[in-house]
Amino acid sequence: MVVNTCGFIDAAVEESLEAIGEALEENGKVIVTGCLGAKGDIVRETHPKVLAVTGPHATEEVMRAVHEQLPQPHDPRVDLIPPQGIRLTPRHYAYLKISEGCNHRCTFCIIPSLRGDLVSRPIGEVLQEAENLAKAGVKELLVVSQDTSAYGVDIKYRTGFWGGRPIRTRLAELARALGELGIWVRLHYVYPYPHVDELIPLMAAGKILPYLDIPFQHASKRILKAMKRPANAENVLERIRRWREVCPDLTLRNTFIVGFPGETESDFEELLDFIEEAQLDRVGCFAYSPIEGATANELSGAVPEAVKEKRRERFMVAQEKISAARLQRKIGRELDVLIDEANETAAIGRTSADAPEIDGVVHITHAGELKAGEFARVRITGADAHDLQGTAI
Ligand code: SF4
Repeated sequence: MVVNTCGFIDAAVEESLEAIGEALEENGKVIVTGCLGAKGDIVRETHPKVLAVTGPHATEEVMRAVHEQLPQPHDPRVDLIPPQGIRLTPRHYAYLKISEGCNHRCTFCIIPSLRGDLVSRPIGEVLQEAENLAKAGVKELLVVSQDTSAYGVDIKYRTGFWGGRPIRTRLAELARALGELGIWVRLHYVYPYPHVDELIPLMAAGKILPYLDIPFQHASKRILKAMKRPANAENVLERIRRWREVCPDLTLRNTFIVGFPGETESDFEELLDFIEEAQLDRVGCFAYSPIEGATANELSGAVPEAVKEKRRERFMVAQEKISAARLQRKIGRELDVLIDEANETAAIGRTSADAPEIDGVVHITHAGELKAGEFARVRITGADAHDLQGTAI
């Protein structure tokens, strides 16, 4: 068994260690990979019986460890791995990783020490992978990285080639080219640098999905400064207003941290005022978790656990009302839905506003012939705080 791990927050470390323990109990032959493997000896100290431990992005090392246990039999079929590779996601959507690492140093985060500075993948390679996936039947690409808007900064937006055509290694150019594939393209982890404004007309024109996942993390300038967040000086509310003017269907998904060291009741209320004013569609909120090695741990003013949790609850109650009201406005509309699961009578799918696994879904009745991986036109008939209900047309 190969266990892929996360070494970010304490809860993820615990979960990873537990998964390794379970794998050892079940099977006994376990290779550990992923970020936790790069964090000192913690895996070996906790589970000395694991066969090998590697860090992230270590396919070769993992395969070497696998073949030490299971010598590779001669099998010509292994040469027949399809050009789109082998994925763990369902056939109809795929993650497209455009870069690795991050040049920022947010004080609560240790990703740069685990993954290093930003390294952008060549744009030709990324587009080729996307094209192969589209040809293999993928209907939705989820563009991911640690800092999607910074794509190409490390290589000075070098010009690459796709199908013989020159294209700069830059997010707007990448999004425009991906938009030509005729499938859904959804952008995640987009920091609101000024050039993000260039993406909104592409969304309004239907080239890429009108969806922006922006980790705002807070609204108080003081806290954002202590977090050393990138692009925190921008006037976010004004920009959201302008984005919605250009693209009224824009869905904003955002994450926030409450209870960061030094966060006062008034900082927290500023955050509540912000979400009220911004009327964000989808929101995740985490109570601050001190991560070993993060510089924020040295900041004074640690917020007690109970206060953090209370603030998280208050935040979620406020956001739930906003989310429910925004979903109510969709009742009566006809929307395109990508079906994730279907049987004879019912189906579950997602609109452009819903990324898989993290956002809501549409529960569809009278599903008829609907099949997973296909698009359907659905009339929205109901909504709760997170999900929609609808009928296939
Ligand atoms: S932008 Fe900040 S939070 Fe995101 S990966 Fe980089 S350092 Fe971590």
